[in-house]
Amino acid sequence: MQCNFSEKSLISLLKKHFGYKSFRPGQLQVIESVLSGNDTLAVMPTGGGKSLCCQIPALVFKGITIVVSPLIALMQDQVSQLEEAGIDALFLNSSLTLDQYSLNTSLIRGGKVKLVYCAPETLVTERMQQLLANVQVSLITIDEAHCISEWGHDFRPEYRMIASVRAQHPEAVCLALTATATQTVRNDIKRSLKLGSKAYGFGFNEFVSTFNRPNIFLEVKSKAGQPQNVHKILKKPTSFKLSRADELLLEFLQEHKNESGIIYCFSRKQVDELTEFLQEQDYKALPYHAGLPDSERAENQRLFVQDETPIIVATLAFGMGINKPNVRFVVHYDMPKSLEQYYQEIGRAGRDGENAHALLLYSYADTNKIRFFMQDKTGTELAAAEKQLEAMNAFAQSRTCRRSLLLAHFGELLEESEKAEPDLCCDICASGLNIEETETDVTIPVQKLLSAILRTGEKFGASYVIDVLLGSRQKRILDYGHHKLSVFGIGTEFSKQDWYQLVNLLIDAGFLRKSSDYQVLSLTQDAKDTLRDRGEVRLPFVPHTNTPAQTQKPGKTGSRKHILNSSDIKGMAILEALKEMRRKLAREAEVPPYVIFGDRTLQDIAAKKPVALSQLTDIYGIGEVKADRYGDAIISIVRQHCM
Ligand code: ADP
Repeated sequence: MQCNFSEKSLISLLKKHFGYKSFRPGQLQVIESVLSGNDTLAVMPTGGGKSLCCQIPALVFKGITIVVSPLIALMQDQVSQLEEAGIDALFLNSSLTLDQYSLNTSLIRGGKVKLVYCAPETLVTERMQQLLANVQVSLITIDEAHCISEWGHDFRPEYRMIASVRAQHPEAVCLALTATATQTVRNDIKRSLKLGSKAYGFGFNEFVSTFNRPNIFLEVKSKAGQPQNVHKILKKPTSFKLSRADELLLEFLQEHKNESGIIYCFSRKQVDELTEFLQEQDYKALPYHAGLPDSERAENQRLFVQDETPIIVATLAFGMGINKPNVRFVVHYDMPKSLEQYYQEIGRAGRDGENAHALLLYSYADTNKIRFFMQDKTGTELAAAEKQLEAMNAFAQSRTCRRSLLLAHFGELLEESEKAEPDLCCDICASGLNIEETETDVTIPVQKLLSAILRTGEKFGASYVIDVLLGSRQKRILDYGHHKLSVFGIGTEFSKQDWYQLVNLLIDAGFLRKSSDYQVLSLTQDAKDTLRDRGEVRLPFVPHTNTPAQTQKPGKTGSRKHILNSSDIKGMAILEALKEMRRKLAREAEVPPYVIFGDRTLQDIAAKKPVALSQLTDIYGIGEVKADRYGDAIISIVRQHCM
């Protein structure tokens, strides 16, 4: 199966049907390989744009393209999106009624569709085989192809049977797509599907894209210690006992107003409590975990996907099969147990290629929680889990570029030239401080702090000890007579906030312990030894009192600016009206809003303000069919605001 095509003709198909001007990295090579009649294995990260790799060839090939997909929700999504783009596609799976199923099979028989999505178990049925026996099949695509391998993490035995179907359609070229594949899994996919086998006479190409997701800013913040000014950012008084993590989360959410995101927690209880607190503080948030009734879980997921509720608080059960491209942030309220899990979860952000933010709230104490659940493991399994946890910890505590570290974990070397702007990369790069610059000699302040804790009898929390160091004459200190101690008032070189930072660093470094009830600080043996030996202590301590450079937030100064400027008042009003229109259309069509238009498309319209249909061709993500279908409504909204 070989086809005539040129790069130009493929780009014009892309523009005509999907409204995009250029291919994402790797897409063109994969498409060209398939169209030249080569079996192809493509490994691309989530959001890399795998779907188009089979959809564009499907438009060129004469026969139909079959796409095997493991999840009904994903199939529905893909088919809705194709229908919106005016491409004939349908799915066959167990969610259809008998009538719908027969209608779809007759459309296939009549040559009325270009793409057929189906579950692997549907594909291998006798009935399906009979149907396909009389149809020309040009391309068989296996989505989530790692499911074919017993070494992959979601092995699906039915996937193994796809090979026999392939044998019945020797004329069809085969494309395997996956986001996660080690060399072992890749070999397994190739062998199982007989990719490039002489039996079929096709060549074989393999493409492995970078795992880098340059649009996701990576940030880690220490949640150890006490909240500092949380009352200032509360919208309402609360009876919840708040932690530093809550404070950091609220600060983060204030900076991400009206954005959609996921907050991952360690336990169901944590999910419930945090959701309740956020709701109390007037955030539109819903919980998601395996302990909720099925109906409630499905409804919460639906509301999130439909953009009705922007925030979902979840355990790691959430995310599989969710195709929502405009997730703008992922917060880890607790540390994941491995970098694999972390990568997969942050990967749910920014699938549309727009800026997204991944924030990990870290404390060394999370390690103990994770270890507690490793108790039932033994031998090599336990050793593997320990190693994963260690890698996760090292990432969280790293003082060098987090992106490079994450990619190195997956065996990829990120060249300096491939890095995004520092302020779009990670917190370390954005701060402009690398390890050599940040690890400073803190021996003297640490001695002062540890002595103050010892001299006050290891009976007080950080706030009190710091007040002693700062020479506060509050009643409590005078009552205890602590104003007479030699450590009283010897720490005025730093602010209270800086001393807190040092306390947190010492907790993370295992020098200080904090009791869980009254948050009382005490010294570990390491700290006592260091104090006694007057050993040098170096920590990534960055006092605010004397650092002019503050961490910059992503997107504020970077080259990848938002298309729409927030000072464009008219544009912002148009954007709101467009979002409302999209919600309404999505409700009517019973599809998620992103199926109608992506966020970037709405922003592009609001920024460019087209007032004539002809101007729509210039808008990102609007192909011919969408322009026909929604052009008048869009123009009318823009005109209302501009006239
Ligand atoms: P994957 O399956 O690899 O996770 P998708 O195929 O779902 O990714 O693509 C993610 C998003 O990127 C979708 O919203 C899709 O429309 C968009 N996209 C894909 N290719 C392009 C492109 N060439 N230009 C712009 N957007 C694209």
